[in-house]
Amino acid sequence: MFCDQCGAQLQSGEQRCGRCGKTVLGLVELRRNRVREHIRLVGIFWMAYSALHVVAGLVLIVVAQTIFGRVIHIPNGPPPEVSVWLRPLLTFFGWLILAKAAAAFIAGWGLLQRQEWARIVALVVGFVALLNVPIGTALGIYTLWVLLPRNPMTSTKR
Ligand SMILES: [Zn+2]
Repeated sequence: MFCDQCGAQLQSGEQRCGRCGKTVLGLVELRRNRVREHIRLVGIFWMAYSALHVVAGLVLIVVAQTIFGRVIHIPNGPPPEVSVWLRPLLTFFGWLILAKAAAAFIAGWGLLQRQEWARIVALVVGFVALLNVPIGTALGIYTLWVLLPRNPMTSTKR
């Protein structure tokens, strides 16, 4: 084995490099660190994904309630027969997107807090997100790749 900082050869079982003094990480610890870093990233991405959904959901609801709610008068705006079914439809989808934002936030927050339940929540929202091409699909695949093979919450706990 060699020091990953200065490259000096290490005696087996050595805790500290004799040349540069760097604490020697075993292979298991290096792998753990890498998994931990991936989980942190997945958590951050879910928070960002949640924020995007909050914006999209709110925009949809505001549009539904104003333009299609005939609060704002727009010349050549949508005719009433369109607004009558488009307003509740857009409002419904707006709330649906906000619900997804909440689920994504819970998953991301839980992962960053290293909660064990967060793995299941993230896997569920990850599967659902696969349908949202392209961002959701990318995030879903990354989430499944990091969290599916094992339970990193327990395997990285000391
Ligand atoms: Zn060294």
